[in-house]
Amino acid sequence: MSDKTDPDEKSDDIDVKMYAPFSCVDCGQEFESREELEEHETKHQNLSKNER
Ligand SMILES: [Zn+2]
Repeated sequence: MSDKTDPDEKSDDIDVKMYAPFSCVDCGQEFESREELEEHETKHQNLSKNER
């Protein structure tokens, strides 16, 4: 009876990948921190500025 695992521990079965929660909306690049994403986004702004 107690041989079966609790359904609550089901989450342990799922292999959670460490994916970056912050992704660039422009190119889809992912970053681990918001600071990195913000710094990356500034590049996009600079680029579009340069194009004009
Ligand atoms: Zn980007």
